[in-house]
Amino acid sequence: MKKCPRCQEGDLFVKPFEFSKPVNMPENCPVCNQKFEPEPGFYYGSMFLSYIFSAFFFLGIIGLCLIVFKMSLNAAMGVLLLIAALTYMFFLRMSRSIWINLMIKYDPKAKENKSAKSFGY
Ligand SMILES: [Zn+2]
Repeated sequence: MKKCPRCQEGDLFVKPFEFSKPVNMPENCPVCNQKFEPEPGFYYGSMFLSYIFSAFFFLGIIGLCLIVFKMSLNAAMGVLLLIAALTYMFFLRMSRSIWINLMIKYDPKAKENKSAKSFGY
């Protein structure tokens, strides 16, 4: 999931993880040279994805706390804030990963054509 969408091998995010840069991506794939940000503002749409995923996820958490664990609304909100803080990075990265996977197709030959730069989707 967090691999380059074109060759499925290069890492989409820079390792090791830094809290100050939660979505630290290299400019190009280290394996096939695919550009990870084909145009400025490429990832604006991914914020929309992230919003939808987290909204459903958080609704589920609230429902679980209220109905299954019989918590008060305030307690459920506390749990939600904690979980939101813990999963924030995950949603941010997941939505970027899904976004670029929607735009760039898998190319099994990408590795061999390493020298040929691809700017297309
Ligand atoms: Zn690649």
